[in-house]
Amino acid sequence: MRGDADARRLGARLHGAMAATLALVIFALDILSPLQGAVAVLYTTVVLVASRSQMRALIWAAGSLTILLAVAGYYISHWGEPLDSAAMRLAVSLVAIGITTLLCVRHQLLAEARRRSETRYRTIFNAAGLPIWESDWSAAHSLLADVDEPEPARIQRAARAAVIRDANEAAARLFGLKGRDALVGQTLAPHHTPAAEATFGDIARALTSGDQTIEQETQFLDASGEPVDVLLRVTIPPGSDGWGRVLVMALDITERKRAQARLAQSQAELTHVSRLTTLGQLAASIAHEVNQPLSAVVTYAKSGKRWLAREAPDAAEVSDCLDHIAANGTRAADVIARIRDVARKADPRREAIALAPLIEETVALLQRDLQTHAVAIKLTVAGDLPRVAGDRVQIQQVLMNLMLNAEQAMGEVPVDRRTLDLKARRDGDAVKIDVCDAGTGIAADPESLFAPFFTTKTTGLGMGLSICRSIIEQHGGTLGAANNGGRGATFWFRLPIAPEGAEAI
Ligand code: ADP
Repeated sequence: MRGDADARRLGARLHGAMAATLALVIFALDILSPLQGAVAVLYTTVVLVASRSQMRALIWAAGSLTILLAVAGYYISHWGEPLDSAAMRLAVSLVAIGITTLLCVRHQLLAEARRRSETRYRTIFNAAGLPIWESDWSAAHSLLADVDEPEPARIQRAARAAVIRDANEAAARLFGLKGRDALVGQTLAPHHTPAAEATFGDIARALTSGDQTIEQETQFLDASGEPVDVLLRVTIPPGSDGWGRVLVMALDITERKRAQARLAQSQAELTHVSRLTTLGQLAASIAHEVNQPLSAVVTYAKSGKRWLAREAPDAAEVSDCLDHIAANGTRAADVIARIRDVARKADPRREAIALAPLIEETVALLQRDLQTHAVAIKLTVAGDLPRVAGDRVQIQQVLMNLMLNAEQAMGEVPVDRRTLDLKARRDGDAVKIDVCDAGTGIAADPESLFAPFFTTKTTGLGMGLSICRSIIEQHGGTLGAANNGGRGATFWFRLPIAPEGAEAI
């Protein structure tokens, strides 16, 4: 900065000296030459030379001095003459010098204002704690401008052709570099991830369609290869055609992303624990369901042994016993497999799920418990039910929770009224499931039931509905509850239909 000021002072002195010399030469020409032309008009060049110094005082000085010299020259050459064409020429010259001086001063004022604004911009640019860089995307512009749907390889080439023209220290820190010099003049290619290149494509598309400012989340790599999540804000300053100057601001959201991931992890764990709790509620009926085929296995094994112990063993009877043993063993294994599926701890998946078999399986899982509580189940599942997108185990968890709640709500009503009515049908661009019971109904505001830890049961935890709602909302659906017109309540949820081409299960 200091060097700049010194250079400017030196330049001003040089231009001052040149202007002064030029003024003297013109003055000499004016008084000594026999020319009858308007030599004094040449003084305008003195003002122009002085204006190159970029100093307003020097321009004013050049203007005033040349006016004085022009007048002096006139009096020396034309002293005592009547006012004629020479006076006219002087007047024209004075007007020309005056106008030139004013124009130069005005130009100088504008230049100073521009310089001040540029300095302000630089200060903000450099002092901002936010990483900012200015990129030249002209090469990318020529690669992408006339292509409707650029293929990934072209987008990659375009992204790698963007050169950083300026960057602040915060930008260097973002990429784990020592200083801004390591970025200026370079491309971001060493820091690109496939996500960053895809984002570049999205931003370029938005810029092509006329957007001036675009915000996108993406991921870069820092100098040590660690991923850095950023929220980018890309702007084309007005007047920079052809993407020659693109301003990029970045917000480091790595920590925020990590916190989000940790939250999602705890949520998944909570969901899993709640699933195990639900299974716990079914423990007695599950034990019974497994025990029944196992007892049958033992009985058939004993009976088979008896057939073998006879004097004339009956092979047909033994074979029949073995068939029964195999069938009951498979039944027990099926029950265990179903339970293991529900109990398994896995990352949520997104698949296209057929709801009808899932409903059937869930009903089978709860069947014994429903029987124990004398609850009849009525299923109305539309035949043309489209698939929904989501995690099979989690949706089953919601179904199980709602059905168990319905069963428990009917614990006090006369046995002949205990019917759980489960309906599934298409509803616009979603599938809607209703779980209706004929129980006590909802005494409180239905919304309060979804708050964590709300329970009216002595052994309840009050997390079931809150978790169900978060599962359904994570699937882009909605879950609600209302009292029925007559008796009991209906809990319902809607899930969006799976997009075409989603992997089906
Ligand atoms: P929990 O079953 O542990 O109490 P939930 O979140 O599943 O937790 O349910 C919260 C509360 O909502 C229940 O205690 C009950 O008061 C109410 N509730 C849930 N389902 C029904 C229903 N089908 N009918 C009436 N009330 C219900």
